[in-house]
Amino acid sequence: MFRIHKVFDVTTPTNRQLLSQVQAMLRVQFNALSEKDIAKLPAQLANPLKYRFRSILLVAEDGDNTVRGFAMLLHAPDLEFCYLDYICAGRGETGGGVGGALYARVREEAFQLGVIGIFLECLPDDPALSPDTSIAAHHLSLQGKVALLDIDYHHGNGAQNIFYRRKDVYTVSLHGHPRYSYPYFSGFDDEKGEGEGKGYNLNYPLVEGLKGEQYRKTLTQALDRIRKFKPQFLVLALGLDTAKGDPTGSFQLLARDFHENGRMIGNMRLPTLVVQEGGYKTQTLGINARHFFTGLWAGIHNTSPHTPGQGRIS
Ligand SMILES: [Zn+2]
Repeated sequence: MFRIHKVFDVTTPTNRQLLSQVQAMLRVQFNALSEKDIAKLPAQLANPLKYRFRSILLVAEDGDNTVRGFAMLLHAPDLEFCYLDYICAGRGETGGGVGGALYARVREEAFQLGVIGIFLECLPDDPALSPDTSIAAHHLSLQGKVALLDIDYHHGNGAQNIFYRRKDVYTVSLHGHPRYSYPYFSGFDDEKGEGEGKGYNLNYPLVEGLKGEQYRKTLTQALDRIRKFKPQFLVLALGLDTAKGDPTGSFQLLARDFHENGRMIGNMRLPTLVVQEGGYKTQTLGINARHFFTGLWAGIHNTSPHTPGQGRIS
């Protein structure tokens, strides 16, 4: 048997003891996590303003204060959303119902808070085994300069962080403005890189409800900047969540827009690696992907722009 309760602060010895067990569990179950991230947990609970989110720690414990699992939910009241930062059962506890019970409690909590939804990311257990734009860009950078263009609806904060102090990988991202789009804390246009990398990170935060034609104006600018950088390789983070009706985005791109975007990118005539990213409107995902790649092919081979309604692409 176990029960789940909330730990609000670290003022009592019991809570401090629970929290140190949570930190120990993080070290074991998320062993790639930095000690800095683990160490900040008490401060996150105590000082929500500093971290921009209110942290809610849900602990499953067995009655004598032995932690068997936990979930950390971040709540942003102004944005009406929750982010599930961690959900974790202790070693040997997986499959024992702890994770499921915690998840049910997380949903209940979010429901009571009246938020729009819970966001979460599932990171690969072993990043080396997963295709990733940053790994690819780093690998290619050993051979020559790389431009990493991210056209997923959401800002590519991971790649930005990785290459922020480097000038051999130019990171360019077009995305929904973080004022109202996930991840909310990064993707602003004043994030330009640091040190050697200053001027080698370029963000285009875009307004809500953007249509294909407006999108292409920014894409044209982004591609011009990439041309000036003279990269040897292009790594493209292809998100199709800029599509009309995507549940995670607000842009209005149609199949013909994806074709045109593909054509413009193909026209760069660079050795290009395309990595699939987001895209959640399953009814149009395949059609949009096909249009993008036929556009890319047309661009590389410099055939004429796609005219909607001609039925060239079925
Ligand atoms: Zn996305």
